[in-house]
Amino acid sequence: MNSAEIKAAARALGADLVGIAPVERFNGMPEVSDPRTFAPGTRSVIAIGYRILRGSLRGVEEGTSFNNTYGFFGAPHMEKMYMSRTIYDLCCQIENAGAEAAPVLSCRYTNQGFVPDYKAYAHAAGLGSTGKGGFFLTPEYGHRQRIAFIFTSLELEGDEVIECDFCKDCDACIKACPLNAYKDDNSLDLNLCRQCQNGATVTPDGAEPVDRCASACARACMVALEDKVGNRFEAKFRKRSVWQRGIHGESLISGNQFTGGRCPDKFEGK
Ligand code: SF4
Ligand code: SF4
Repeated sequence: MNSAEIKAAARALGADLVGIAPVERFNGMPEVSDPRTFAPGTRSVIAIGYRILRGSLRGVEEGTSFNNTYGFFGAPHMEKMYMSRTIYDLCCQIENAGAEAAPVLSCRYTNQGFVPDYKAYAHAAGLGSTGKGGFFLTPEYGHRQRIAFIFTSLELEGDEVIECDFCKDCDACIKACPLNAYKDDNSLDLNLCRQCQNGATVTPDGAEPVDRCASACARACMVALEDKVGNRFEAKFRKRSVWQRGIHGESLISGNQFTGGRCPDKFEGK
């Protein structure tokens, strides 16, 4: 199979994004994350992205539902059911053609000899780049995607590496953080993110220690980019004023969209 055939097959299997990186692009990266540490015969890395539905963030945005929708269709359900099926089926097609193909999710099991670096792989495969807020951003969906990979012995033509310039003159994610978790150099105080009750979820074995895709910072990024990304909508995402919770779960903004002017008592997304 060549690059065009791989991409056509991935899209037919449901992928929203596909990019390819020749393995030489990982020369010099830490050995623990080098694809060749996992699969020594790797010659190409295929990155496959699935959009996170804007609608799957609706319940968190409104403060009405955390686990039902985003918790399933934005996070583990999507990775473990839809994406794993796609990369498995594509691996079968590649192996039917005689090359080895290893399906790799972004999960970081940190006590092992290989720890994937999904942002580095996706960047090398031309899908996008990491923004100021720490999110991997693509021209099509901004921060709204999850990415899985195939390490294959096929030698494939690579895609051009791109840098998204979305963050120029923007600091919406930083301003939106109720806990001031962004430091002066834009790095994050992850201890604060672990305690965040604004839509963040602690994910020790996930792609990152804290899944921030639905949190206040990332939803602010989505709002900032909704007229800049390729995947656009007729109506704006934000329907009402934002809600915010402090480190102890207290409401920081009163009189907002919640019934009785208060935040819900229970935040399942913590
Ligand atoms: S996850 Fe919460 S604490 Fe961390 S940057 Fe986002 S809004 Fe701030
Ligand atoms: S909110 Fe703005 S600065 Fe932050 S990651 Fe998104 S585009 Fe970049």
